[in-house]
Amino acid sequence: MKADVVIVGAGAAGIGAGITLAEAGKQVILLEKGDKFGGAGMFGAQGLFAVESSQQKAVGSSFTLKQAYQELIGYTHYRSNTALTKAILSKSASTIDWLSDHGLKTELVKNTQEVHQDHPKVYHQYIDKFAGFDRLMASFKAHGGQLLLQTAGVEIIREQDQIAGIKVVQNKHEFMITCSAVIVADGGFIGNHELVNKHLTINPENLYSMGERKATGDGIKMLAQLGADTRHLGVFENHAASVISPHDSKWHNSTIFTLTNLPFLWIDQSGKRFVDESVCYDFALWGNITYTIGGAYYFILDQALVDELSDQALEWTDSFERTFVSLAHKPMTHKVGPFPQIDVDLEEAIAKGAGFKAEDLAELATKLHMSQKILMQTVDRYNTQIEQKEDFDFYKPTKFMRFSVKQGPFYAIKARSTSLGTIGGIETNDQMDVLKADKKPVKGTFVAGNNASGMYDTSYPTLEGISCAFAWNSGRIAGESAIKLLNEGSESYYG
Ligand SMILES: Cc1cc2nc3c(=O)[nH]c(=O)nc-3n(C[C@H](O)[C@H](O)[C@H](O)COP(=O)(O)OP(=O)(O)OC[C@H]3O[C@@H](n4cnc5c(N)ncnc54)[C@H](O)[C@@H]3O)c2cc1C
Repeated sequence: MKADVVIVGAGAAGIGAGITLAEAGKQVILLEKGDKFGGAGMFGAQGLFAVESSQQKAVGSSFTLKQAYQELIGYTHYRSNTALTKAILSKSASTIDWLSDHGLKTELVKNTQEVHQDHPKVYHQYIDKFAGFDRLMASFKAHGGQLLLQTAGVEIIREQDQIAGIKVVQNKHEFMITCSAVIVADGGFIGNHELVNKHLTINPENLYSMGERKATGDGIKMLAQLGADTRHLGVFENHAASVISPHDSKWHNSTIFTLTNLPFLWIDQSGKRFVDESVCYDFALWGNITYTIGGAYYFILDQALVDELSDQALEWTDSFERTFVSLAHKPMTHKVGPFPQIDVDLEEAIAKGAGFKAEDLAELATKLHMSQKILMQTVDRYNTQIEQKEDFDFYKPTKFMRFSVKQGPFYAIKARSTSLGTIGGIETNDQMDVLKADKKPVKGTFVAGNNASGMYDTSYPTLEGISCAFAWNSGRIAGESAIKLLNEGSESYYG
């Protein structure tokens, strides 16, 4: 088998690169390890960031490329790749129209998180997502691209400083595809427990991954063998926090899900309060603080609160409401509950190993393996602040300083650090060339999406849809760079 370029991974980054190459008339083979294409950008994500898009212009948005760039670089404190960031943002507007031309339409919606409502709109939500991805793939094929499902890239073959091809495995059968360039876009390594544990700075038990399980670091491994710089791998896309059952991975309880998304009292594993809990209205910051304190905390309810929630609606917003509402085009309620079954739901959480119940705080501390003294001090201090309606520790807004924790039994529900994937990868530049530690290129190779580092510092930023924007735009850029390399030759391309 032969191609100009082989792309490893058919997620957003790989498809972005594939269509770019195919529409330029290059022979391109897109490898997908699984039996479906699309990756996390299709199965998980709902949309992508862009700035100065035609849709933003049509509604008179004044948000500029310059503002977006400065916001992002400010967020990362210049610990990100400035040229790469600029390249991704600069391309983001055209990518919205380009995706639409190839069959995946989007609509500019209100930002999907509560705290971003005053920020200019940037989230371009997919319309008819699955059919849209099918149309993208049809466009890829109509332009001559070839998709090989259930085919994994395993080794890039280089001969005398040139790419000679890539070894692939299809139904346990190994063969080589001859090509002159490879784009590695297989989604990072969140599906590789060994590699994840090596780079995590929290107890692995506290990590709940929602990321692509097939992203097992194959591409990173292949590029490392060619000398690529892998020193920036340890960045996780922390996103909110999740309550899970350690022994039933399918367990979901909608009452517990909603309670997790509200700013009640949260305590860390030592029994101390650690944050203004209304951080739950920003998923990246919520995810970051959860990771920072060791990957797990408990939210605490007392019986008086449980009784109130069982028969009265609470005029607080579920932090995920806006996400679901914007998808369904429904009006916001800014209310939760009542939860008439809350007792049953809490008992279920306890039976599933996600929650704990105790008659008094001393017993609760014992069950949570923390100091009774610390827990009691935390609760006393919190109750005093509730009475005064002022959070002088972490400045939670007064509106949320409402429920003291006094009347047993007490409930503690464990929330864990949640990751959408790994977003630290191979060192690259604004052309998505694979770089070695000395910044010299591994000639003929490119990275895209979650395989590439440089866009993020230690976490993913709060600009909504930026990781999908990175996947699509870095994929398109990698495709364009490969075209340039093929058209101009190695000497001219690398200078
Ligand atoms: C639940 C969820 C919700 C999200 N929501 C959003 C959102 O709304 N907005 C946003 O911006 N971002 C969101 N993200 C993040 C975003 O989806 C990802 O950052 C982005 O899709 C990554 O794209 P990718 O192409 O780099 O990787 P992936 O989507 O992971 O694609 C990689 C592909 O490579 C394949 N592969 C792996 N190994 C091999 C191999 N050896 N050979 C061949 N193929 C291989 C995998 O099977 C996979 O299909 C979300 C992520 C998740 C998990």
